[in-house]
Amino acid sequence: MNLEENLERVRKRIQGACERGNRDPSDVSLLAVSKGHTLNDIQSVTELGLHRFGENKIQEAKLKIPAGPRHAEWHFIGHLQTNKSRDAVRLFHMIHGVDSLRLAEALQETCEKQARNARVLLEINISGEASKHGFCPKEALDQLEYLNTLQRLEIHGFMTMAPWTPEVEKTRPIFRQLHLLRQQCEDAMGVPFPVLSMGMSHDFEVAIEEGATIVRVGTSLFGKRHYSKKKLSK
Ligand SMILES: *Cc1c(COP(=O)(O)O)cnc(C)c1O
Repeated sequence: MNLEENLERVRKRIQGACERGNRDPSDVSLLAVSKGHTLNDIQSVTELGLHRFGENKIQEAKLKIPAGPRHAEWHFIGHLQTNKSRDAVRLFHMIHGVDSLRLAEALQETCEKQARNARVLLEINISGEASKHGFCPKEALDQLEYLNTLQRLEIHGFMTMAPWTPEVEKTRPIFRQLHLLRQQCEDAMGVPFPVLSMGMSHDFEVAIEEGATIVRVGTSLFGKRHYSKKKLSK
């Protein structure tokens, strides 16, 4: 695996998608999804100029973040259990997957105790698949006013995952709907929700064409994940 070549390829793909979607490349941020990858790889990617990383397990993050590059910005992209809110708030710059009222309330309570705010994205289950977490779009619209009263949560925008499909074009309606939902929420609340976290290795180009501001890329950058903990903390 050659990280430099991988990154170059990912950057070219981002650039192409920006051209097709008439997007300014500086509005699209590449989140390097480092779950299942070692601190060595994280360090190497840092040296290539990336400093935003995504992790999806608190246990793994607790080992890696304190030992990781000093100025890295860590994003939590997994399903967060309410009993892990404390660690999540302490460790992460942004929590992408606020997927229920219960979790939002737990985060609010944790933040209140720590006298700090949390940057969050609401996870939206656009496809309605039972296996996916997140608010359904209507629920998000209905609950937004209440969520906005949770003073310690800074809602920066929305996150979604498209169902996996070999025909990547089929993901387009999913991303388009998240973009549309963002618009509806902005109209309803009269405040901006600038962040749209959508797109992974196989579908991030379509996501960018449809308005993604953060793409979460693991495999295309780091290659296949490995899951031995011993290896990860090296
Ligand atoms: C693992 C993961 C990614 C990255 O997936 P790749 O296909 O490896 O790019 C992106 N988003 C979430 C939520 C993930 O869990």
